Amino acid sequence: MPEKVIIIGSGPAGFSAAIYAARANLDPLLYEGTAQPEMIPLGQLAFTTEVENYAGFPAGNVRAFVESAVDKDRHYNLPPAPDHKRDGEYHYAVQGVELMELMKQQALNFGTRIVGDDIVDVDFSGQPLNVTAAGGDTVETRTVIIATGARANYLGLPSEEDYKNKGVSACAVCDGALPFYRSKPLAVVGGGDSAVEEATYLANLKDAATIYMVHRRDELRASKIMQQRALDHPKIEMVWSSVVEEVLGDGNQVTGLKLKSTKDDSTQELKVGGMFVAIGHTPNTSFLEGKVEMNNKGYIKWTKPFRTNTTVEAVFAAGDVADDYYRQAITSAGTGCMAALDAERWLTEQGD
Ligand code: FAD
Ligand code: NAP
Repeated sequence: MPEKVIIIGSGPAGFSAAIYAARANLDPLLYEGTAQPEMIPLGQLAFTTEVENYAGFPAGNVRAFVESAVDKDRHYNLPPAPDHKRDGEYHYAVQGVELMELMKQQALNFGTRIVGDDIVDVDFSGQPLNVTAAGGDTVETRTVIIATGARANYLGLPSEEDYKNKGVSACAVCDGALPFYRSKPLAVVGGGDSAVEEATYLANLKDAATIYMVHRRDELRASKIMQQRALDHPKIEMVWSSVVEEVLGDGNQVTGLKLKSTKDDSTQELKVGGMFVAIGHTPNTSFLEGKVEMNNKGYIKWTKPFRTNTTVEAVFAAGDVADDYYRQAITSAGTGCMAALDAERWLTEQGD
């Protein structure tokens, strides 16, 4: 008997799909992936510290709750609790790994079967569909939910790697309002719509200091209206024709950037407390080449408005893998829920 639904991916989209599919008695099988460069089993949130904008998780004694909810044999996976206390008790916003362990637990509680392997190939040529894992197993299934996410592109500098989570981030909307960055001059690298959006977001925060946009050319790629937004903003300063050669810091936090001109050999030092990289994302879809339609950047195409259908019948997509616009945990969870409901309805229509 083929599986009813296989979910590929283990971020907010995959686990939300699993919770809905399991509660609909679809007995989901979820592949959570293994650690690969810029990818880890608990999704992108596992790369970050506190998550302040996931509704339902205000700051509080998160550690006590997480430890009470997550199976003890996975407590070793929890990062140390930040040392913010109120009345002697922990008081902080849920950390990325904690939130993902909670989602995983919720999926497990309703009976989701989770396999720690990467899907490396699929056969979507007819029913049943097939997925093949790196370990060699091929499994038949009636429906597939692709929730493999995307990964932020980074510059690829060793110093950038050293300061990830210490002042280097790829998501201003996620991290920019954290106390760590507050009131500090900051740099955003990139010249597209995302970079402008990130810079404007940072510049509009209460007590924002100067936000430098470091771009490798002397003209922005962003749409005209977005460009104007950045160029007219009193707190945004453009640093044209420059690339980051090195992220400078004191070991604990970023203190500046060494910039190199793309026009001549000159260099300069920019004093900033953080660097936000906004140079695009890469969706995790290489194993789906030729199997399902994607846009020119490799994101899976949704084919119906407000539905998660793809170009292949019974294959649905959820989260960042199909969304190069919102790219938030909560929107990914939302489309994960939609994909599970879409799969359930497809199965019902088939009389399954
Ligand atoms: P992902 O979270 O990318 O998860 C996909 C998962 O699928 C990964 O675990 C991956 O290993 C797995 N996978 C990939 N390929 C395969 C395969 N072939 N087989 C099996 N498994 C596979 N958003 C917010 O809303 N708030 C924040 O504060 C916030 N902070 C962020 C901080 C950082 C540093 C980053 C990078 C992102 C942040 N985001 C934040 C964005 C948020 O993390 C993403 O929008 C969200 O995680 C996307 O969820 P997803 O389920 O679509 O995919
Ligand atoms: P993008 O349009 O591809 O822009 C990437 C930017 O990063 C470019 O300016 C590029 O420089 C620069 N860059 C790329 N690699 C670099 C490197 N190694 N070093 C330094 N700079 C580098 O990506 P995006 O801004 O993430 O936008 C993605 C899509 O989402 C676009 O279609 C965009 O319109 C859309 N989007 C829309 C909105 C909105 O409308 N509100 C907001 C966000 C995103 P060059 O210009 O020199 O190539």
